[in-house]
Amino acid sequence: MSKPVVAIVGRPNVGKSTLFNRLAGGLVAIVENRPGVTRDRLYRDSEWLGRKFTIIDTGGIEFVNENTPISAQMRRQAEIAIEEADVIVFVIDAQISPTPDDDMIAQTLRRSGKPVILAANKVENFAKTELYEFYNLGLGEPVPISAVHGMNIGDLLDEVVAHFPENIEEEVDPDTIRIAVVGRPNVGKSSLVNTLLGEERVIVSNIPGTTRDAIDSAFEHDGKHYIIIDTAGMRRKGRIEELTEQYSVSRSLRAVDRSDVILMLLDAGEGVTEQDKKIAGYAHEAGKGIVLVVNKWDLIEKDDKTMNRFEKDIREELGFMQYAPTLFISAKTGQRVTKLLDLVDFVAEQNSTRVATATLNTLVREWVHLNPPPTDKGRRLKVLYATQVGVKPPTFVFFVNDHELMHFSYRRYLENQLRASFGFEGSPIRMIVRQKD
Ligand code: GDP
Ligand code: GDP
Repeated sequence: MSKPVVAIVGRPNVGKSTLFNRLAGGLVAIVENRPGVTRDRLYRDSEWLGRKFTIIDTGGIEFVNENTPISAQMRRQAEIAIEEADVIVFVIDAQISPTPDDDMIAQTLRRSGKPVILAANKVENFAKTELYEFYNLGLGEPVPISAVHGMNIGDLLDEVVAHFPENIEEEVDPDTIRIAVVGRPNVGKSSLVNTLLGEERVIVSNIPGTTRDAIDSAFEHDGKHYIIIDTAGMRRKGRIEELTEQYSVSRSLRAVDRSDVILMLLDAGEGVTEQDKKIAGYAHEAGKGIVLVVNKWDLIEKDDKTMNRFEKDIREELGFMQYAPTLFISAKTGQRVTKLLDLVDFVAEQNSTRVATATLNTLVREWVHLNPPPTDKGRRLKVLYATQVGVKPPTFVFFVNDHELMHFSYRRYLENQLRASFGFEGSPIRMIVRQKD
């Protein structure tokens, strides 16, 4: 297994090579300022918390044609980082506002889908420095550091290491949607996986070595790639004899962690059980896309109101999951099973929707104007600025004058407005409230 690669990118003079030297931990720095000296790409090995990794300072990459404009050079450096790195550290200068070049680099990095840690360098006063402008880069929360003084470098490395792939060989193409099929024993997980795989072009079944308690199969549908994680598959293979309820819950939770979209199977004859609630709650917290699949629909005697009644019961039992679409299927007869993948695609897309900051703020101003926050002891909440800092799930930061004035009901109002405007169907959303003083 090769070592994870960490690339440092950023504009000239933000402190990349200073940071590189810090991270390379005491190794002699190669700092070549003389013009005309060709130097190699700068690679160094380092280690943090027992994890070994390789660092590249993309700022050290020399361009053969000296006339290449700086912005083209930076773009190329970012592209090299994207090609080569498992984790990218994007360094910006916290002492000045983001520049157009910062925006350009951020945009290139965002499109790559690679984990990016935003390092706000040259922070002198950690208590006072205001970093909210940098949320605008759409790369999540900036980590304040001082490369020159070696401040907060440990926190930065914690973030970097946390994004290392568990096992590099397990990496799959980012366009592949991973689907976990979860639910109680006997709800029909195996039957559903068999029905689905029976209809699609299976590329690899029983992919080994991922986890020992589920079976993964890769398949293709309409030119798109999927991996289905089948928690019942081991039993089907005769490798597990008996399933305790407890064991099946923990297997489901692990499958949830590894997936993009959860197919939460419910038994039409039994409704929502405590175990179902536990797994659904976990998927919600984990920010995953989710579809509530009511199976064994063929066994239910129905009239024209049955589906609505079921739907209402489910909504009551899973109150925190109003956003999840429901589908009534029969894994046995195949009824509506073909619709499942369309719903999976839709939910996966909703779960990774990104809203432009300008659009968001225009709407937020409108929402606040339509329904101003109530006053509390003579003080009123002011929403200053909002920005989306992440996807999977869509995560928003609201900067306010005083976070204590953000009451549950107003938060709920803003969430409802976000959903009314952007959907996010089948996806949890996160809202972080930050006080700006
Ligand atoms: P790069 O070539 O763009 O990666 O940037 P350098 O590492 O060469 O640093 C550019 C300048 O910023 C140098 O003068 C550094 O001393 C300075 N610098 C780097 N890190 C910090 C920091 O944490 N605080 C301050 N105040 N200056 C820094
Ligand atoms: P698992 O434990 O969740 O994997 O459930 P299985 O797929 O093994 O199914 C448990 C039982 O329910 C089996 O006897 C299946 O034939 C039956 N079953 C599964 N899906 C359906 C369905 O849609 N309709 C009916 N009538 N039976 C089903």
